[in-house]
Amino acid sequence: MNVLVCGGAGYIGSHMARWLAAHDIGVTVLDNLSTGHREAVKWGELVEADLLDQASLERAFSGRRFDAVMHFCARSLVGESVAQPYDYYANNVTGTLNLLEAMRRHGVDRLVFSSTAAVFGNPVSALIDEAHPKAPINPYGASKLMVERILADAAGAYGLRSVALRYFNAAGASHAAGIGESHEPETHLIPNVLRAALGTGPGLKVFGDDYPTPDGTCVRDYVHVEDLAQAHHRALDHMEAHAGAHVFNLGNGTGFSVREVIAAASEVTGREIPFEIAPRRAGDPAVLVASSDKARRELGWTPVHTSLAPILDSAWRWHQQQPY
Ligand code: UDP
Repeated sequence: MNVLVCGGAGYIGSHMARWLAAHDIGVTVLDNLSTGHREAVKWGELVEADLLDQASLERAFSGRRFDAVMHFCARSLVGESVAQPYDYYANNVTGTLNLLEAMRRHGVDRLVFSSTAAVFGNPVSALIDEAHPKAPINPYGASKLMVERILADAAGAYGLRSVALRYFNAAGASHAAGIGESHEPETHLIPNVLRAALGTGPGLKVFGDDYPTPDGTCVRDYVHVEDLAQAHHRALDHMEAHAGAHVFNLGNGTGFSVREVIAAASEVTGREIPFEIAPRRAGDPAVLVASSDKARRELGWTPVHTSLAPILDSAWRWHQQQPY
């Protein structure tokens, strides 16, 4: 079996490439290296191509045979999406349409798509399951929801089989394999907390302490990147047995506030983590916590890193290896 991992030079995509290789599945990585890292492509061939450049996509598919595509390429920063919505719709929607067209031209009819908890907007229930209303409050979530709709339409029109996996907050690293979360500038909470523990980075800011949550800071559900990779593997199996477009939420079902993440990271690292309170960041819902019962039941997904400390510990080991 051969899988094209689009965005395989990025954080989640590189973990996916490693997972597939470890399970004897052929990997080809497609990436434009805009935010990904050439050195993170350690499993499979790297094909440099851009989803907004149809000629480069055509070259990537020509002469290669893929059984399925996993699609991690996206602009994925909530705050940035509010400021630059055209970039988000172009990259995430038009780029995906170009990929789907290339797949159709080349007879590839299976896709695992990276969706997001941001499709839901502000939750109306404590745990968010797949049936929860979809009302995104930022262009990032809206762009991903549009693709979910396109995949449902493509199932009917073209027989495309797909699984959209709605990640809650991806976290952790594979320090032994030398891959982890690294963006420049870094905007994500856990890397910023760990950089603050190392004394590198610009200084940790907590975006808002006046949310309607127990300590006033935003609550998120952190899920280990290797557990996300496992879910993608299960999704490949699911598509063998099930036609149509399917969606699953992926999280651990427990929420942690920003302050709780900082406190847990202080425990794991044994270091003080200085921070200051800053204004809210545009587009952030107060709370996002998953119900992943459907993924456990129908995909047979069994996340391994179900508490925050081991997730932080794996990220910490990786951050300590970095040349900041
Ligand atoms: N956050 C923060 N300081 C940072 C980065 C993030 O307070 O330096 C907050 C952010 O406002 C959100 C939570 O941490 O409430 C998780 O943000 P992240 O960017 O890691 O993931 P997102 O939820 O946007 O996917």
